[in-house]
Amino acid sequence: MKKILLCAFAALALFLPGGCGFIKNTTAGLPITVTDYRYLGTVITISIYESVPGELTDKVMERIGDIHNRMSANIPDNELDRLNRAAGRSSVPLSADTLELLALSKEIARSSGGCFDVTIGPLVKLWNIGGDTPRLPARQEIDEILALVDYAALDIDERSGAAGLDSSRMAADLGGIAKGYACDEAVRILRENGVSHALLDLGGNVYAYGAKPDGSSWRVGIRNPVIGEEGHVGVVEVADKAVVTSGPYERYFEEDGALYHHIFDPRTGYPAESGLLSVTIVGESSAIADALSTACFVLGPEKAMALAESFSGVECVLITANREILVSPGLRESFTLSGGGFTLAGEY
Ligand code: ADP
Ligand code: MG
Repeated sequence: MKKILLCAFAALALFLPGGCGFIKNTTAGLPITVTDYRYLGTVITISIYESVPGELTDKVMERIGDIHNRMSANIPDNELDRLNRAAGRSSVPLSADTLELLALSKEIARSSGGCFDVTIGPLVKLWNIGGDTPRLPARQEIDEILALVDYAALDIDERSGAAGLDSSRMAADLGGIAKGYACDEAVRILRENGVSHALLDLGGNVYAYGAKPDGSSWRVGIRNPVIGEEGHVGVVEVADKAVVTSGPYERYFEEDGALYHHIFDPRTGYPAESGLLSVTIVGESSAIADALSTACFVLGPEKAMALAESFSGVECVLITANREILVSPGLRESFTLSGGGFTLAGEY
């Protein structure tokens, strides 16, 4: 689905003068909107609701591009690739932000009992969901690969600025957290440049930055996660918050009538089936919200609610397979149900 969307943007860009990978609207007044599909395997849209120097959005995109180049799992000889190729042999020096993100990933792995695991790389490659040739592997292949997934075998030495993986064929994959980190960095640059009102969307990682120009909160829609249905199930009203959603509808393939998606349960090696259709995390840090949304999706409703609640300043909206919506207490006042056959769960 994402691929289709990407193609649509690619096609659009071809008709623009220069067609160089992003669309920038600076002539039609406010907001200033930039749409970019070059990075992080997704469509990035940034809308700024006040006048800013033209170079500011270029600066933001450059930073996102830099994160993509160093942390993508598909760029030969980038930082992540060097870490993975040295697995079982040596540590490699990494930049401060990659180290920081690996350390944060490990922390969330610990607090989620390994349901978020940054060493998921070999399993992601095995299934290749979102790639050109996704496939359903044999149970035995999955078991062999699962032995390589273990966040405890990722060693991070912040003092020397290096990290290493204990066994050969292990591989880190930052796909569940890098978009969030890129979003935080974009927000940091906007803040440093005195911007007050902006909306960012990095493929499901939304950031409602500041308040709306009239001082009210932003209204961020939570998409209906049922494949084949459209629209929103509800709206959260927030200011200065990341709103990150994870769900199977993002990337999946079908085989013999079964659907296999891209969020894996590191305990089984199969796409997670926890009774949830999507998880939305609201918090200050998009990186933490990104990792938590993936972790919570794997954990299932009760444990997801407990994990989200254990992080201060973090709230969540969970949508279950029986079309119930669970909203964490701190967000209930800010959430409005839109309908579409979903009901708000009462006491939980
Ligand atoms: P999206 O990237 O579609 O927004 P997520 O934020 O949930 O979705 O991240 C999914 C990506 O994270 C996968 O494509 C894969 O690279 C990686 N991933 C999948 N399962 C896990 C997991 N259990 N722990 C950590 N990363 C995961
Ligand atoms: Mg995520």
